[in-house]
Formats: sequence, C-alpha cells, structure tokens
Amino acid sequence: MTLLVRAGLLFTGSEEIENGWVLARDGVIDEIGSGQPPHADEVVDEPNCVAVPGLVNSHDHMYQWATRGYAPDGTLFEWLRTLYPIWARIDADSVRASARAAMARLLLCGCTLSTDHHYVFPSGRKGIFEALVDAARELGIRFHPCRGSMSLGESRGGLPPDSVVEDEDAILASTEDVIHRFHDPRPGSMCRVVVAPCSPFSVTPRLMAESAALARRHGVRLHTHVAETLDEEKFCLERFGKRPMQLMEDLGWTGDDVWFAHGIHLDDAEVGRVAETKTGIAHCPSSNMRLGAGACRVADLLRAGARVGLGVDGAASNEYANLTGEVHQALLLARVHGGPGALDARSAWRLATQGGAECLGRDDCGALAPGKCADVALFRIDDLVHAGVADALASLVLAPPSRAEAVVVDGRVVVREGRLLTADQEAIAREIGAVSARLRKAAG
Ligand SMILES: [Zn+2]
Repeated sequence: MTLLVRAGLLFTGSEEIENGWVLARDGVIDEIGSGQPPHADEVVDEPNCVAVPGLVNSHDHMYQWATRGYAPDGTLFEWLRTLYPIWARIDADSVRASARAAMARLLLCGCTLSTDHHYVFPSGRKGIFEALVDAARELGIRFHPCRGSMSLGESRGGLPPDSVVEDEDAILASTEDVIHRFHDPRPGSMCRVVVAPCSPFSVTPRLMAESAALARRHGVRLHTHVAETLDEEKFCLERFGKRPMQLMEDLGWTGDDVWFAHGIHLDDAEVGRVAETKTGIAHCPSSNMRLGAGACRVADLLRAGARVGLGVDGAASNEYANLTGEVHQALLLARVHGGPGALDARSAWRLATQGGAECLGRDDCGALAPGKCADVALFRIDDLVHAGVADALASLVLAPPSRAEAVVVDGRVVVREGRLLTADQEAIAREIGAVSARLRKAAG
C-alpha cells in the first residue's frame, strides 16, 4: 500500500522543498522529492498547503477534557485542590470519552504522536488504562500512554486527598502489567508505555526510585512533573531539604530515558545538568501562562544543548488544546524575556516535531526522511488568515491555524478537508459535553 502526499511547500524538519512530495509504503517513508511525483495507490494533493512532520505532543492529561473550565484564576495548587475531588469520580467511561475528545482535537490540529500522563486511578474503577489505549487505536493516533500514579495523600503530608492515592505496591504491579500487555518497542510502534509517578508532592521518594528501577528493567521511559511552580520548590525544600531537580537527580531520575514536564524553575547549574544528562523537557507554554506558573527557559536550555519538546498539557489548564497554538505561544513567550532573537519560527516548529520525538525516545518520528514513520500534517495557507503572507512557515507560527487540512499517521489518512475520518467528531463533542455535565453535577 503506497500513499503520496504533495504540498505547495514541504518542510522536512531541516529542508524546505517547493512543490515537494512524500511517498510512503506500508506506513514508512520511501522517498522524498519535488516536481513530478511517482504513482501511488492513494494521493493527498494540496498545492495550497504547507506539509510538516506530524506534530508530537510531549505532555498531556487527556482525562481532564471532562473537567475543563474549573478554577480559571487559581494557582497550580489551588487549581489541583479544586479538581482532585472531581477527578476522584472518573471511571473508564469518562476517561474513554475524554481521551476520544483529546485525541480528536490533537489529530485535527496536526498532532500524530502523543503521550498521555494518566495518574488518577480511583479505587475499584477498572479499565481506565485500557480505555486510553482503545481510544488511540480507534482514532488512529500514535500513542505513548503513561502509567502515572499518586501515593502521597494529605494525611501523610502530600497535596492530593487520600481518596485519589493508591497503594505503592499495587501501583508497581499494575505498571508492570500494562507494560507486558501494551508496550511495543519495535520501530514504527503505535503504542509504547511510559512509567510516570505524578510529581514530588504527590508520590514518595520510594515510589519515584522504584518506578525508575522498574522502567529500566523493562527498557521503557520515565516521565514526571518537575519544577513547575515555586510552591513545589518550597514543598521540596521543606520536606526533603533539596530543590526539585536535585531531588530527582538523587533518585536516579535523570538520563536520556527521562523527560520532565515544565522544568520552569531551574537555575543555571540545573539547566546545565538537564542538558548534560540528556534529560528531556516538555514545555507547555499555555498551561504555564494560564496557571501563572512562570516561563520555561527554553532559549537557555536549547543553547545548553537540551532536548525540548512541546505539550498542550491537560485541557483543564489549557482549554484551547491546540498544539500549533503551543508553537505560537512558545515563540512569543521566549521573546518576552529574551527579545526577538530568543526563538525563531523554524526552531519553534522543531520543538513541536523533532524535540518532542527526542523526549519520547522516537528516532523514527519527528522528521520527514526515508525510513521514518509516515506521519505528516498539512496546513492551508490560502485562507483569510494566511493568504498572501510572506514566509509561509513563519506565518503559520505567527498566526497559528485553528485546524489542519489533512493529517497522515503511519501512512494512513486520518484527517481530510479538516474532518476526522476515524470517528464522528460531532458525536465526540456531544459525548464529552454529557460526561462533563455529569461530573459537574456529581461534584455539586
Ligand atoms: Zn501536567
């Protein structure tokens, strides 16, 4: 099965090719060229589009689609305290509806590979992780679900209420179980499992350390939240006598198999350690701005040689949830502190593609080249916002599109003419509306 994707401009991640094309065979890129293309079984021909490597979402909490719009003016800890009791009510059905909404939104904005950091497993609710994996298979997105966890409840000095934390041995056993059932390490994989205790203020150092050992025994990656707010820094200094980054390093949580969400409050030495250890950072500018958490030092991290990706974060702290919007926000936010030279448009695209793929450990994704996965996103440049604009690639960052025109994942067309082909997007919207209303009502 061959697929040909043609576009007015093809950005491979390093090269820009006018009237370029990509030929994919069985989900893998066979050839890239310009001008007269070869024959293919299926064709996506968009002369008024820019084609880029499929975007990579390196941090998310998909279940949060069912709880958007809460604590709109709160700090992270205030927002979390508002939401924990509502999250305590989620089950496999609400998680499935949320994941379908999150994944539909991601695909429709050009994202082809996403992680999901799921860390809420209320006692007795079965099938939550399975619901996430099923939704990704149904919608056709390449997926790295994290088996997240919380174990440090309020009664033991943590932030979350005891009702949403789990027993640590049960967490480790369940994590091992989902790795055995769902992790596919092969090149071109559509599903890889990640081990991901939630944060220094919601799990114990023992669980962090044992999670890292478990992940390394199985050759899977590690993910968690680090240095998101000054409240977290204060918590770590008071409880452990260390800054968050030092705590994580002492627990074995640095290396090229680890990536952190946020990494905002890092001092110069910590920026250097992140780069030296090849630890990745998932930058989530909209969520960080919504929660007033601060600004990740993206320009400093890149200068130090660190791996930096972009994430929408959960929709409860980024209701727009558009990954091309994060490319836009990353560029603007970097310039607030660093001036117009802090981040250029092409580097911003690379954060959302190659940078994210590096965080997720995918050397087969994040760029368009022979042998890479056939994951491509196409954006119109003949609409009212973009028609006639100079430098199409930069203009898509300065004026982010509200949706992609076409999206290909694993050589399969999943979005065409801005419509999802793998599921009914209106039905998904109705369903997430009903599930959100039910949770809101139950919360009183
Ligand atoms: Zn997060």
